[in-house]
Amino acid sequence: MSDSPSPKRRGLLFVLSSPSGAGKSTIARMLLAADTQIAMSVSATTRPAREGEVSGRDYHFVTDEEFDRMLETDSFLEWAHVFGRRYGTLRNEVVRSIENGCDVLLDIDWQGTQQLKQIDPDIVRVFLLPPSMAELERRLTSRGTDSEDVIRGRMERAAAEISHWAEYDYVLVNDNADACLRRVHTILEAERLKASRRIGLTDFVRGLIG
Ligand code: 5GP
Repeated sequence: MSDSPSPKRRGLLFVLSSPSGAGKSTIARMLLAADTQIAMSVSATTRPAREGEVSGRDYHFVTDEEFDRMLETDSFLEWAHVFGRRYGTLRNEVVRSIENGCDVLLDIDWQGTQQLKQIDPDIVRVFLLPPSMAELERRLTSRGTDSEDVIRGRMERAAAEISHWAEYDYVLVNDNADACLRRVHTILEAERLKASRRIGLTDFVRGLIG
C-alpha cells in the first residue's frame, strides 16, 4: 500500500536555523540533493556575495535601494537585520513552491522564524547546534571567507542565536553531517505523514473500512 493515498498534500515550510558555521548550509544542500519534493527558498540580501556564491542560487544579492523598493511592494514574507545587513524571504518564491505542492526549505534566523510562525502556525522549525563553541570557531575560521573582525562578530551573535533554541520544534547537535542529515530527513518525512496534512486521507480510510 502506498503511503500517499492522495497525491495532494499541503506543502510545508521547513525552517532550518543555526548560528553561522554550524553546518546549516551543508545540511540544506544535502537535503535538497536527497529529496526532490522540497525546494530552497532563495532569500534576498544586501550583503555582498562571498567568493563562489552565485546570485539567484545562494541569494538574490540586492542593493539597499532595491531592498527598500521590495519592502515598499510588500515582497517579503519576513525580513530581518543580521550582522548589520538585511535579509528577506521572497513571498512569491515561497507561494509558487507551495502552490506547486512542493515543500519549502528556509535557511533563516530566529527573528524570521518568529515572524513566519505568526503567519503560518503549521511551520516546522529545526535548530542545529554546533558540538561546541570551539568547534564553531574552528569551522568559521577554516572557511577563510571572513575577516577576524567578522568572525568575532559571528561568534558573539552565535551565542545570541543559540539562546533561542527552545523556540524550535526540533533541536539537533550537528557533530556529523551524514548523521545530522538522516535525522533532519526523518523529521521532514514524519511531518509529511501528519494526519492534519494529508488531504484525501479521510476518503481513503472511508474506502478501507466503509
Ligand atoms: P549568511 O550571511 O552567513 O549567509 O547568513 C547569515 C544569517 O542570515 C544566517 O543565520 C541565515 O540563516 C540568515 N538568513 C538568511 N536569509 C535570511 C532571510 O531571508 N531571513 C532571515 N530572517 N534570516 C536570513
